[in-house]
Amino acid sequence: MNEFHDRGPRRVGQVKEVTSLANPIIKDIKALTNKKSREESGTFMAEGLKLVIDAIELGWTIRTLVYAKAAKGKPLVEQMAAKTVASGGLVLEVNEKVLSSITRRDNPQMVVGIFETRWAKLKDIRPKEGETWVTLDRVRDPGNLGTIIRTADAAGASGVILVGETTDPFSLETVRATMGSVFAVPVAHATAEEFIAWKKQAGVSVVATHLAGSVDYRTIDYKKKPVVLLMGNEQSGLPDRLAKEADALARIPQQGRADSLNLAVATAVMLFEARRHLLSLSEGK
Ligand code: SAM
Repeated sequence: MNEFHDRGPRRVGQVKEVTSLANPIIKDIKALTNKKSREESGTFMAEGLKLVIDAIELGWTIRTLVYAKAAKGKPLVEQMAAKTVASGGLVLEVNEKVLSSITRRDNPQMVVGIFETRWAKLKDIRPKEGETWVTLDRVRDPGNLGTIIRTADAAGASGVILVGETTDPFSLETVRATMGSVFAVPVAHATAEEFIAWKKQAGVSVVATHLAGSVDYRTIDYKKKPVVLLMGNEQSGLPDRLAKEADALARIPQQGRADSLNLAVATAVMLFEARRHLLSLSEGK
């Protein structure tokens, strides 16, 4: 059982100095680049002091804080170290070689946090009036998923539902691309069948985006019910069985030679259009 598998009573927190890449705790942290290790340990890695501060402030559980020797004594780093120890976590002071190896970067961030993963449960999601949710069908690209989580946060969306086999929101690449929004935006996952069953009783309007959509996205009523924006897979778009569950099939009119928009760009266009309608609702216009 490794450091992260330990689900027993919390040990008293401690600060350790680690300089060797062969250290078993460092090996466990490095293994978090693999999905299997993240799933088995229920943990993931986030880089950067700002992200660590945001995550702790938002109530995420930190298991391990790693910081560079050069960051020692910086007040915010010391505060995060104290919070980590106070919550029973481990604090590691490491050299740059170890940090580079953990993060696979030549110029690593000075601080890395290992946090417990947290999924929203689809059955607990009950969208309310004025809310917008994003559902992504089989999203493959970590950069797209991270950008969408970040954009959902910026557009005031309530959360993201991943359907089918998807890329992992807790991979290093996705977390990087979220720029910290992974800690602010609830993310759920479900099979297509579970999503369809949920949709039937959730009282939502599913606005699916489709290249063959019959409705201009600007003409849709985003206000009559909570909205779920349903976006298709990067390569194959939305399968018919999901598209036919939609209340509207929206198209973003394009010019030029491009067949389609990038998934994250299309999601951003839809999110901010829904937001524009909802803001006018709240302003009573
Ligand atoms: N070859 C795919 C297809 O035939 O649908 C292209 C998929 S596109 C890269 C990824 C997703 O972005 C689509 O499934 C759709 O949800 C959305 N999308 C991209 N451009 C769009 C547009 N102009 N109108 C509506 N949705 C669009």
